[in-house]
Parts: sequence; C-alpha cells; structure tokens
Amino acid sequence: MVEAIRLPSFDERERALARAGYNLFNLFSEEVYIDLLTDSGTSAMSDRQWAGLMLGDEAYAGSRNFQHFESTVRELTGYPHIVPAHQGRAAEHLLLSTLARSGDIVPNNMHFDTTRAHVQHVGARPVDLAIDEAYDPESEHPFKGNVDTRRLVELLDGPSGAHVPLVMVTITNNTGGGQPVSLANLREVARICRERGKPLYLDMCRWAENAYFIREREPGQDRRSVREIGREIFELSDGATMSAKKDGLVNIGGFVATRDAGIAARLKEALILFEGFPTYGGLARRDLEAISIGLAEATDERYLAHRIGQVRFLAGLLSGHGVPILRPPGGHGVYLDVRRFLPHLGADQLPGQALAVELYREGAVRSVEIGAIMFGDDPSPAARSMELVRLAIPRRVYTESHLRYVADTIQRVWDRRSTIRGLRMVEAPEHLRHFTARFAPEPT
Ligand SMILES: *Cc1c(COP(=O)(O)O)cnc(C)c1O
Repeated sequence: MVEAIRLPSFDERERALARAGYNLFNLFSEEVYIDLLTDSGTSAMSDRQWAGLMLGDEAYAGSRNFQHFESTVRELTGYPHIVPAHQGRAAEHLLLSTLARSGDIVPNNMHFDTTRAHVQHVGARPVDLAIDEAYDPESEHPFKGNVDTRRLVELLDGPSGAHVPLVMVTITNNTGGGQPVSLANLREVARICRERGKPLYLDMCRWAENAYFIREREPGQDRRSVREIGREIFELSDGATMSAKKDGLVNIGGFVATRDAGIAARLKEALILFEGFPTYGGLARRDLEAISIGLAEATDERYLAHRIGQVRFLAGLLSGHGVPILRPPGGHGVYLDVRRFLPHLGADQLPGQALAVELYREGAVRSVEIGAIMFGDDPSPAARSMELVRLAIPRRVYTESHLRYVADTIQRVWDRRSTIRGLRMVEAPEHLRHFTARFAPEPT
C-alpha cells in the first residue's frame, strides 16, 4: 500500500498542537509527516496478506480461516489452546480477569501500559522485576529485558508469594526500550516458577524480534533459526498473550494461548461475553487469515534483519550527532534519553512530553512519551526512574530517506535544546492518562 504524506507548514503545526492540547494522540494523521507514534497495527501488509483478506470465510462458527489461524499459532508456539481476541489488551483482559483477583500481585520484567492497567483493573498490583541494567540508559547489557531472578525468588518465597497467581515476562520489553530477554534468563525464570507451582505467561507481542536478538547475541544460538528459538521460548512457558499488531504484521488482532484446558474453558467463557464466539474472537474471519500469514512472515530472517537494521540505522545517525539515546538500540524503535536531552527541565515540567511536542513542532514527526505521564500513577520508584521518548518504527513502511529526515529533525531540536520549555498537565483522566490528557506550555 502506498500513501501520500505531506509536510504541514510551521503555522499549521503550531495550530494543530494547540487544538490537540499538546497531546500528540489528538493529532489528525494528515497533520503528521512521519508517524513514529507506535509500531502497533501500523505495519504494511504483504501481497500475500492482502490476498488472504479476499479468502474470508465469514461463517459465525467454524470458519476455515480460524482453522488456519489456530494451526499456525499451534505450529509456531506449541500451545494447544488458542483463543483469538481483537487486540493485545483484549487478550490481557481475558487472561488477567480469569487468573488474577483483588489483592493479588503480578510480577513482570516490566509491565507495558495496558498490561499494568489490566492488572490494576482487577484490583491486583503490578510489580516490575527487570534487572538493574534495564534502568540505566547507558548500559550496553545485551539482554536488558531480563528478569532479576533473585528478586523474583524473594517475592515468591516471601510473605506475598501466596498472592502471586501468575508470573509474566514481556518479550521484548517495550517499556524498557524494546530490549530482549535471553534464553538463559527465561530458562531460569521457568525453573523458579515450576518449582513453586506458579504458571508463567509471556507477553509475546515481539517474540520474533526477541528470538532474533537471542540468535545474534546469545552464545551457542547463532546456528538455530528464529522459529527453533521461538519453540524453546514457548516450551518454557504455560501460555501467552499477543497483540498481532506487532509481530503478527497486521493492523488489528491478537490472541491468548494456554496449555491448561481448564483455563482455556474459562477464557472462552469470558471471550463469548466480551469479544465473540471462539472461532472469531472480535475479528472478521478475513483478519484471522491475514494474521496467519503475517505471523509466519515475521519469522523470515531477511525481514528481521531489515527491520532491526532500520532501528540501528536511525540510532546510528542520532548517536553520531551526540543525541543521547537508550543503549543498545532495541527491536522496534529508538528511545531518546530525555534526562540527558533536556537536563534543564525538572520532572514536574514533563520533559518527555515537552520533547515529543518539540519534535512535532520542528518537523511534524510524531513520537510518544514513555515516562512520568505514562506511569505517573505508579508509585514504584522503578517506573519513575527513566524518562524516554520513543520513536517506534512501523514495519515495512518507511525507507532510509524517511529515517534520515527524522534524524535531521531530531538533530536540529538537539542543537537548540536549551531553548525548550516545559509543559503542565491541565486535564488528567484516571486510567491510561497519556492517551487523553491535555497540556499547556509553561508560562514564560
Ligand atoms: C502493544 C502492546 C500490548 C497491547 O496490545 P494492543 O494490541 O495495543 O492492545 C501489550 N503488551 C505489549 C508489550 C505491547 O507492546
């Protein structure tokens, strides 16, 4: 699919910002030149996926597209029970409302915003247990998504252990910079969970990117395929949630999978109530066909080399100019380290949002804050310890020249960084406030 893009004038951008309440989620897409808000559901589908959409068997029950979808997910993951959902958070809703209840504690390397919100929605408490290096933007640790297994053991063997209904691990760790989890760490987490009878569920949105990093960086893994590594990752776990809008290469879709027939039955009951019948799960059947094809395409190692190569290319241009980024670059985007970018702004001046606004003002590039606004309602010190702006790269959409334009824009903002002013929040909803809050420039 080819789309025209247009660079709005400086005045148009300034007016758009004011209308949007300085929240980039409120911009119209025509007001954006290069859209790096998210890599979720923004991929370009392949010729084969578009052809698949024409093969929709829109039967309410028993569609052949569901059969294809189910057999594809089973083949990639080995999980027997596959429950389709319309996107990742719907899968999280089904899993967490089935397994967790008020007063529980759910550990994860780092909860993504929607996962955190769904844990809190059932009255449970999300706890992030990533290794210390995950919170140091300058650390070059190859697997900054890893779980701190010592703290996991402490939690499970401590007084709160009985209140942990499941352990989750997010691959790759989106909130922490798209950083991978190593196979060795997953094996250790799985052993700890198995010994204590705790189910281990993966947030597998970017599992193919994670497996690619394992192949590249983990000793002894370079001869294995992404699929083989994936199979081992899934064998270590009891189930997973997935937003197919990431490594499913589609615009909408997701699923939750489990090895436990009893849990699968309960998931399906909730599914029928909230999403739809188990052979479509809130999706058109043709969408399931596109997911089946996309899931397989995302394991193509030439594709993954290109994808992760694009992220590295942009990171290289920025680092070369001295722009502070979270190191090493992750799988799906480049994350600007706001504390080093805007050291003159205090935390109460919302520097991450101020920087994201400035990138739009300079070049109509849309990014997203991952910092005080996204996690402001979270009391854990870990959630507050990094302030980032994410430039997420959509899959199979932009070319090297688009990325050069983005780098030029950011470099210009970097060169005049000392002139950037803070923002204040003028409207803040209770949940997932980064999506809908409104802001205003600080008075001069
Ligand atoms: C995108 C994402 C989700 C939620 O998926 P949606 O399809 O946006 O609902 C959950 N976890 C992670 C790690 C994600 O990146």
